[in-house]
Amino acid sequence: MFNLVIFGAPGSGKGTQSENLIQNYGLYHISTGDVLRDHIKRGTELGKIADAFISDGKLIPDDLMINILADVLDKNADATRNGVIFDGFPRTIEQAKALKTMLAERGTQVNAVIGLEVAEEELIDRLIKRGKDSGRSDDNLETIKKRLDVYHNQTSPLRDFYIAEGLYEAIHGSGTVEGIFADIRTAIDARR
Ligand code: AMP
Repeated sequence: MFNLVIFGAPGSGKGTQSENLIQNYGLYHISTGDVLRDHIKRGTELGKIADAFISDGKLIPDDLMINILADVLDKNADATRNGVIFDGFPRTIEQAKALKTMLAERGTQVNAVIGLEVAEEELIDRLIKRGKDSGRSDDNLETIKKRLDVYHNQTSPLRDFYIAEGLYEAIHGSGTVEGIFADIRTAIDARR
């Protein structure tokens, strides 16, 4: 079993590189953003709560988000047997601690954290381009700026958290998708 966290700011390429990881490593992909957007689409109670936070560029509260993730893990216990790509989770130190506990309770752990590092101007550029056809309520300049602030204040401290755990692999996240993925492979294969 090999669990990895794909980590980085909005627009750093987590979703794109997750696609490559799924194909190459046969891991189960959990994107918490996709899970929430699915609830919004289906009009569930959770979807209504999530919609307000997402459209405003804010994080869903930790206790709620942690319960959602535990639920996804429990409902997909079979599919996650080979390991999981955590995409968009954790986003706070509290979530990272909860993930550690959750995985320990299931007899496993995070094996690597792939940190996609991309300059701020490039992130904004990419997100604005994505917004032209993503249909996402949060891919507009005002919300993009809020999301980047949230990233700097609440999420980026996780970098040091995972460096201290000996799990962080810094990946230069500009360049071609293939070139970046080659670096990701090298980092992962050294830990498998
Ligand atoms: P993403 O698709 O990962 O960019 O996530 C889109 C939005 O969903 C974020 O801006 C948050 O509002 C919400 N979200 C996704 N994952 C989390 C999480 N782990 N904790 C809190 N909010 C989240």
